[in-house]
Amino acid sequence: MIDIGVNFHHKRFAQDRPEVLDRALEAGVELLILTGTSIQASQQALKLAQTHGQVCTAGIHPHEARTYHPEAHKALQSLLKSPEVVAVGECGLDFDRNFSEPKDQIRCFEGQIELAIGHQLPLFTHERAAHPAFLEILKRHQNHLPRTVVHCFTGNRKQMEAYLELGCFIGITGWITDLKRGQDLRDALPHLPLDRLMVETDAPFLTPKNLPFRASRNEPAYLPFVVKEVARLVGKPEREIQTISRQNTERFFALEWQ
Ligand SMILES: [Zn+2]
Repeated sequence: MIDIGVNFHHKRFAQDRPEVLDRALEAGVELLILTGTSIQASQQALKLAQTHGQVCTAGIHPHEARTYHPEAHKALQSLLKSPEVVAVGECGLDFDRNFSEPKDQIRCFEGQIELAIGHQLPLFTHERAAHPAFLEILKRHQNHLPRTVVHCFTGNRKQMEAYLELGCFIGITGWITDLKRGQDLRDALPHLPLDRLMVETDAPFLTPKNLPFRASRNEPAYLPFVVKEVARLVGKPEREIQTISRQNTERFFALEWQ
């Protein structure tokens, strides 16, 4: 299995990163894609990827969009030259909490789309409460973008189908195990073609609800619990979900590792 979204730079992993990695490996998670969410976080993610033999993304999360200036764009450009950086992002729109103004979010998102096109790298996106605006922006650029994943998708079937129609991949997190907030997603999942599926924890956030024990934070070692629920909802063996999501991930991010 490959976890396509781990916030490994997060301070909640500061004390025990090697142990977190060991537990992930023991659980069958062979590679982590470390998420870059700001210039500083992307630089940290790259350093961690290099130190721990993983890969990462480089980008600016919509919450941080107000920090997107010409210097930030240049800093991203230089990060994208490292072979460990396999995608542009996390980038997108989050109108749920609007930590940055929508107009800044749009500018920041489009700047990163431009980088993905220029470097011919896949785009790792985040969309929350912004489906129409997000879709409109993607539609304008989709012909030039190599590949796009909507990470931590939490929407409904109709929204998912609109992304699929554009050729997007869908990242599924522990949200799928949430019987309250995740109902739309649980209804949508059986309609997701498995060749567009990728799995992720978004650790340390979104601890799966189906863990047989209490956990104070999420970890990549809990990815099998996401896979388990996906398998149950689509009526396939877990093994098959593991294999297909891994193949999708390897192709999507053009991973050359083993
Ligand atoms: Zn996100």
